[in-house]
Amino acid sequence: MNKLNILTYPDKFLNRPTQPLDNIDGKVQEMIDKMALAMYDAPGVGLAAIQVGWDKSLLIYDVSPRDESRSLNVLINPKIITKEGEIVSESEGCLSVPDFRADVKRYSSILVKGVDREGRPLELEADGMLAIVLQHEIDHLKGKLFIDHVSALKRQMYVRRIKKKLRS
Ligand code: ZN
Repeated sequence: MNKLNILTYPDKFLNRPTQPLDNIDGKVQEMIDKMALAMYDAPGVGLAAIQVGWDKSLLIYDVSPRDESRSLNVLINPKIITKEGEIVSESEGCLSVPDFRADVKRYSSILVKGVDREGRPLELEADGMLAIVLQHEIDHLKGKLFIDHVSALKRQMYVRRIKKKLRS
């Protein structure tokens, strides 16, 4: 199985809104397995299809503590139905935005609807860490990166740093 490459900022593909996934066939299952490998390998707690160059509405996550058994979750065509409260996601990071961390304001609890990898309807009440991860990944599916949530100044500092790196 060839390894998936995780796209990084400023790759324009990351800004593309994704399409709903209607047919969850064997190819999709294969992609999910490949995405899981890439996520655990990184390591990360969440990965959206768009980050590996696939513009479909699919994300995976695993927020189980490290060293404990893995528990991969798949969420397809997710929609946030309700959101409430406020939480500061401390030094949030992203596999597609390397070497950058920032505090991000998120909703503290959300209700998400979607389908699982078998195509079964799924309703998810999330708060804390899980709510943060899901909001982050669902943003990806809309072509949005977490740096869009930070102050313009902080973002510019990062953009300058990346441009310098790309030139060298
Ligand atoms: Zn991310």
